[in-house]
Amino acid sequence: MKLCLLLLLLQAAAIVSALSPSQPTSLSNRPTTSKHSRRSTSSLFGIRSTLARARDSLVNKERSDADLKDGIAFFYDRSSKLWEDVWGEHMHHGYYVPEDRTDHVQAQIDLIDEVLKWSYGSDNLGSRSPKTVVDVGCGIGGSSRHIVKKYPGSTAQGITLSPYQANRGNELAKEQGLSDRASFQVADALNMPFADSSFDLVWSLESGEHMPDKPKFINELMRVAAPGGRIILVTWCHRDLEKGEPSLSKKEERILAKINRAYYLPKWCSVADYVELLKKEGAVDIRREDWSYIIAPFWKAVIKSSLNLKSVIGLMKSGFSTIRGAYAMLLMLRGFNAGVIKFGLITCTKPETGKADP
Ligand code: SAH
Repeated sequence: MKLCLLLLLLQAAAIVSALSPSQPTSLSNRPTTSKHSRRSTSSLFGIRSTLARARDSLVNKERSDADLKDGIAFFYDRSSKLWEDVWGEHMHHGYYVPEDRTDHVQAQIDLIDEVLKWSYGSDNLGSRSPKTVVDVGCGIGGSSRHIVKKYPGSTAQGITLSPYQANRGNELAKEQGLSDRASFQVADALNMPFADSSFDLVWSLESGEHMPDKPKFINELMRVAAPGGRIILVTWCHRDLEKGEPSLSKKEERILAKINRAYYLPKWCSVADYVELLKKEGAVDIRREDWSYIIAPFWKAVIKSSLNLKSVIGLMKSGFSTIRGAYAMLLMLRGFNAGVIKFGLITCTKPETGKADP
């Protein structure tokens, strides 16, 4: 019932959005000729509604890497303000233990703490606590600011593809008196602007799914980690394949392909694939976990949160890519329920001696 209501609201938002003038983000530095900034020419008279466009555009073919990168930046430039207005500074799933908890922002903060606890094996790290942190795919920097507050004396550097997010991350750091400890910049996770062995915590929370070249991504995470440093990767994965199973089913592939269009994602991999890549890079103490059941109530909460006037108006202002993202929430729910999407946690250590012998 509520899902029907959401679709109705989205439809209304889509139509009004299609008819209202573009609202370019002040910080976007993309040229106006970018294909992502082109406006819908829909009108009431005959041309498809934005909603139909959202649905149709989900079945188009995969994007090139360059298009993907441009699209990710554009998507987060346009949608991050709406997300922050409704959900605050963390752009990731929450920790739902117990499962009926209703403070969703606290659930997101708890997820960071619980992931750290899971990786390090303790909440109280004392002198073992990380001093230098890189937040790979940082959003508006919620994790970085939380981590530097948690570990006295630590500093964090975050990277994102979105100029809006980097700027907003720095603004929030200033507001929270953390400018000297947390900073954010636009940079590519596949070619990070950091020297080898720079960080004793390499943190990537729900950004790995955006990376088109997973081996290069893992190679970069390992490169910037200090010897003895910890890598924590929390990311959307597809289920592990069974022994001898060559690929996902066609039906599963179709769900993921539609999500890819909406959220600017490339081909997915499994947690097992990440573990293999880390082994190849010589990582040690590799551990993995599936927390799909822990985050399960999240998408229903997001959908519910969009059922209010403020969210719908925000959607209208944010434009087509955000509306399509909202539409795809239903697909995420379907993917988790079907067991094809997994919320994967992977952690490991870079060996003290550098890359191990193959
Ligand atoms: N980790 C953040 C944000 C998650 S949203 C949080 O939990 O709040 C995904 C983030 O990944 C966005 O900030 C997006 O810009 C970033 N991202 C995606 N691909 C990237 C790339 N190639 N390089 C750097 N950041 C990337």
